Amino acid sequence: MFSKNNLNNLKTNSLDWNLIQTELKNKLGNEVYESWLKKIHFLEEFSNYLLLSVPTRFIRDWITSRYLDQIIKIVKIYKKDIIRIEFKIVEQKSKNESLNNRNFNLVEDKENISFIKDTYLQYNRIDQNKRFENFVLGKSNKLAYEASLKTIENLSHYNPFYIYAGVGMGKTHLLNSMGLEFKKNNKKVMFISAERFMYQFVKSIKSNNMVKFKEYFRNADILIIDDIQFMNGKEAMQEEFFHTFNALLDKDSQIIVSADRAPNKLSRIQERIKSRFSGGLVVDIQKPDYELRKKIVQKKLEDLKNFYTEEIKLSDDIQDFISTEITASIREIIGAVNRIISFSRVYKKMPNLSETKVILKDLLNLTENKVTIDLIQTLVCKFFKISKNEMLSSRRSRYLVRPRQTAIYLTKILTSKSLPEIGREFSNRDHTTIIHSVKTIERLKEIDPEMVDNINKLKNRILYNEKQNEI
Ligand code: ADP
Ligand code: MG
Repeated sequence: MFSKNNLNNLKTNSLDWNLIQTELKNKLGNEVYESWLKKIHFLEEFSNYLLLSVPTRFIRDWITSRYLDQIIKIVKIYKKDIIRIEFKIVEQKSKNESLNNRNFNLVEDKENISFIKDTYLQYNRIDQNKRFENFVLGKSNKLAYEASLKTIENLSHYNPFYIYAGVGMGKTHLLNSMGLEFKKNNKKVMFISAERFMYQFVKSIKSNNMVKFKEYFRNADILIIDDIQFMNGKEAMQEEFFHTFNALLDKDSQIIVSADRAPNKLSRIQERIKSRFSGGLVVDIQKPDYELRKKIVQKKLEDLKNFYTEEIKLSDDIQDFISTEITASIREIIGAVNRIISFSRVYKKMPNLSETKVILKDLLNLTENKVTIDLIQTLVCKFFKISKNEMLSSRRSRYLVRPRQTAIYLTKILTSKSLPEIGREFSNRDHTTIIHSVKTIERLKEIDPEMVDNINKLKNRILYNEKQNEI
């Protein structure tokens, strides 16, 4: 059962957000602080993530793309368990404005706002922006989408309904969409993440309020639990969940669950729960293929066009780049588009390909490793038809010097290696030689169109090389 020990493990040392803000101000400077970070407010702290609020979607995207890593780093100093930060948009929009931006109605629905005082309903947040209508369909998610539609039509026919997929694939989006539809039909919908269910459960035990907890969940017509894998190892909670689950099935309530893996693969979850899950309808969402990725990019751009008054566009090149390179999840694709648009709005220009690479650096899988000095040297040698030994030799013939300088220049702009590091990889050349090479190529680029052309060709080969070979 639930031991004292478990309870102690769950206790969290509260985070002092003011302290973090001060730290951020010191680290990132007053200007960045005043323009962006000051607008962040602390909402809530969970075992491994923080919920913060910002006033607009734009500010959120800007902060996420530029400062999130640093914020997490600083937060981690005070609380090492925090691995992510979630932003909620809490804006005070006038009615007119939100009507204009119908597609981006970010204001929580009234119902949820009025419920905010009720501790249980606080967690029952259905996101108005995640609906069936704006769920983009592709081969990888069609099955899950159709099963979700069937679930809302044939209540408790597919019970429980279990969706699984990796992160950022659209599970929560579909769960939300179903929740919204059920709500339209005046069903009592309870939508909660397993993490919050756990938090609520512990709180109820501590405050001797288990009766209310049980009643609350057992009263639902529809119970939707997101990310059920977080129940792993939480024996007492699983016990409670199992009973709730049975009580709900008995009264024909619909249960919908999501997880990051198939039921039988769930670790440290009771066998009887897993077998209940397997007994219902189980569908998965697979990784998006190129076609779906492209559609998501286009859909996101359309959304942004409705959101901003000024023109939003993204060159075909960059759209293609994102659709080709960002393959891990739909969330990352959307994040990538947001970042590029934020960049273009702030700098009033579209980033070129290498700037795009920098902006999306952390989303591009192992780019750092893929674009190695060795790869650059190999491709530059091939391009200029010289051998690697010649490139790395100390010979100063003109036909070797330019390719060598070109390779050094490309290493400087395409990797994060320092000058001495680059020097070492080019037969222990001094870092002043490296600076000289970089400057020479930069100067030549300004006066020699052929140089510009060569550099661009090489850049593309280096950036795209491996992927092209794979396909
Ligand atoms: P998961 O719960 O699987 O981690 P989410 O449902 O939170 O993923 O999706 C991540 C983001 O991607 C959300 O903003 C969601 O709205 C969006 N998204 C996911 N799949 C789709 C889709 N098929 N069409 C449109 N947006 C999607
Ligand atoms: Mg989710």
